[in-house]
Amino acid sequence: MSAHLPLAIVPSLCSLLYLLIFFLVLRKCALKASTTRLLLAYLGLLIAAGILLALGNLRLLASAFNSRYPLYGIALLSLTFAFLTQALLRSGKLGLPWIIGGIVWIAGYTILDANLLNLPENVIKGQSWVITLQSISTTLLITGWAAFMGKAVLLSLKATRGKVPPLIKNRANYWNLALGILIAGDILSFFSLDTPACALRLPAVLLAATVVIRPYMPDIRQMERQAIKYLVMTILTGIVLLIGLFIAAPLIESAEEYNPTLVGAGLSLFLAAMLTPLWLASERVVERLVPRRDLQTNRVLREYSQSVSSILDPELLTTVAIGLISEAIQIESGHLFLVEFEVDEGVSRYRLHGSRGIGDEPPESGLLSAKGVLAEYFLKERRYLFQSDIQLEERFQNIAQEELSWLERLGADVYVPIYTKEDWMGLIVLGPKLSGLPYFEDDLILLSILADQTAVALQNAHMVESLMRLNNDFRRAYSAMEQANRHLQTVNTQLENLDRTKSDFISIASHELRTPLTVMRGYNEMLLEDPVVTGNPFHAKLVKGIYSGIMRLHEIISSMLDMANIDTRALELKTEPVSLIALIKLITDGLRESCKERNLTLEIENLSDLPKINADIEALRKVFYQLIVNAIKYTPDGGKITITGLNVSAGQMDMAEGGVEIIVSDTGIGINPEYADLIFTKFYQTGEVALHSTGRTKFKGSGPGLGLAIARGIVEAHRGKIWVESSGHDEATCPGSQFHVVLPLHYQEQS
Ligand code: ADP
Repeated sequence: MSAHLPLAIVPSLCSLLYLLIFFLVLRKCALKASTTRLLLAYLGLLIAAGILLALGNLRLLASAFNSRYPLYGIALLSLTFAFLTQALLRSGKLGLPWIIGGIVWIAGYTILDANLLNLPENVIKGQSWVITLQSISTTLLITGWAAFMGKAVLLSLKATRGKVPPLIKNRANYWNLALGILIAGDILSFFSLDTPACALRLPAVLLAATVVIRPYMPDIRQMERQAIKYLVMTILTGIVLLIGLFIAAPLIESAEEYNPTLVGAGLSLFLAAMLTPLWLASERVVERLVPRRDLQTNRVLREYSQSVSSILDPELLTTVAIGLISEAIQIESGHLFLVEFEVDEGVSRYRLHGSRGIGDEPPESGLLSAKGVLAEYFLKERRYLFQSDIQLEERFQNIAQEELSWLERLGADVYVPIYTKEDWMGLIVLGPKLSGLPYFEDDLILLSILADQTAVALQNAHMVESLMRLNNDFRRAYSAMEQANRHLQTVNTQLENLDRTKSDFISIASHELRTPLTVMRGYNEMLLEDPVVTGNPFHAKLVKGIYSGIMRLHEIISSMLDMANIDTRALELKTEPVSLIALIKLITDGLRESCKERNLTLEIENLSDLPKINADIEALRKVFYQLIVNAIKYTPDGGKITITGLNVSAGQMDMAEGGVEIIVSDTGIGINPEYADLIFTKFYQTGEVALHSTGRTKFKGSGPGLGLAIARGIVEAHRGKIWVESSGHDEATCPGSQFHVVLPLHYQEQS
């Protein structure tokens, strides 16, 4: 048995290697794919065949079995390989007839081979010839094998011809090579040269498995190039070595005592020194024989980024980008599509709008469903896609028909998506290369970099576009604002004019009214003292009534005149030292009677501590009179009014030299904080005017709405401040209000 050991090593090693490939395929390929399953079945058969061959070679199997099973193996292997070829290249169909034919073939061969029908050894006998059962079974085996392997060859050859994507072509080229070696191996098997057949099959199977695992094999022409290079290098090295030996031989002969180690070392050194020049020389020879396709990546990238980065119009940019790519990679057709996400009637999808590329016509726009296989691939994988992938890969089998036909109409070879950080913004669609070669690793790396650069350029273009749009919007808004401003200015001037006319009218009217009123007042006073009137209580009451009406009218006209003076800045302050306690006491004394009538408490606090201030006493009298009368007016019967004084030290409340603060607080109906400013404007009254009672100090008594406006005019003329604080208006709870007046110690007229 030990003598046969070496014969067992080759098949065992082959089986081991097939087992490794088996696990590699399991790891790398999707088990769902039919190619993977067929390849695994093929490898399984090979592993079993290897083990059986090893056992056979060790004489561990019955010799009858040993001589027969390889033929079964060949039958099953050829059948599996034909189906594998069809699944991988998809260049034709192996339909039901082939499946039935395969089953019939294997079954027929088994029946004949095992002679299950008990046929005689010599089935048909002629006079000089005989057809044996074995010859029939062998013929059946070879016919079936030839049919399946022949079909595989046809399918593979078909995939290298005609309008087939270059990548599939390249794949088929490799497949042809593997197929050729396999056929040679099978032929060896027919001649019972099983061990060499096993050894020959190994590289073929390795190649076939690589093609299945790696869909994108390097260009076979580049492989040829490598092979030629290796050959040239070997020949050149051989020549150099021979020359070396020729030179060394006479030297060795002439030497009396020669040291072989030294000679060997010398030769090695010589060869080592020659290695680089040899390498360069072989490169040059190969360059002549098989010119290299030169991409000049750096130059392309530089030119691309220079041209693309300066274009700010997205449409132009897409056209220029495609032009540059086609120049760099030499392609037949190409387009750049801009991708826009849209939702139409609740369906979300991507609209691909193409630019005019290398072809004359702009390409047809496409719609990809956001949930479709294609859009999902581009969004998730974020990498290029070959048209051949769409044809071959199972995951693209469910692609929508309209998407598929759109892609077919584009006639592209490869799709390179363009992304920004978060968005899918474009798709470079490239047709076949002019050379007919497929797109290779270096092309795709270059294309990916170009896609990234295009993304940046597109983003810039979009940014500039939106900036320009924004700029235009701003300009429009600005001119509209200017127009509105001009309009406002006109309206303002008109309003100012109107206000001035109104003030003039009030001023003139009150002046004109005052004179007859003074006459009426004089006559009325005379009547009041007339004994005829005083003697008749009824007449006396009538005349007193007329008198109080005249006085009220007088007051209102004075207020209107004051207001007109404030408005026209004609208010002249005659300043003198004013004692505020004296002033306020004078006012309150005059109002004590009214307070008593309404059962109101009037208190004065801390006023005696206040210093005298420099102010117009008559004007201030009007201010405090108004505030106290208002407090009486807006406080229900039984309430309380307090007048408090506070010192304001220098620097506080904008009073450079200090001042005084007078607070008039009441327990009245209060003021809504919303109106805290409004009540100081002229003619403003809260509540319904008609509801005001008529008496001056009556609860919610009437008034023209000028009191606080005049007060503010006077206080501000003194460079002071006036404001109100109240928590709100409520006639039921009466939260009260506090009117604050701050006046400077020294009034200084503004220059
Ligand atoms: P009027 O002549 O109506 O009193 P004013 O200018 O004096 O006009 O006051 C304007 C408005 O401010 C009044 O109509 C009133 O509603 C409100 N108001 C003034 N003082 C008080 C106060 N002490 N309490 C509540 N409301 C007040």
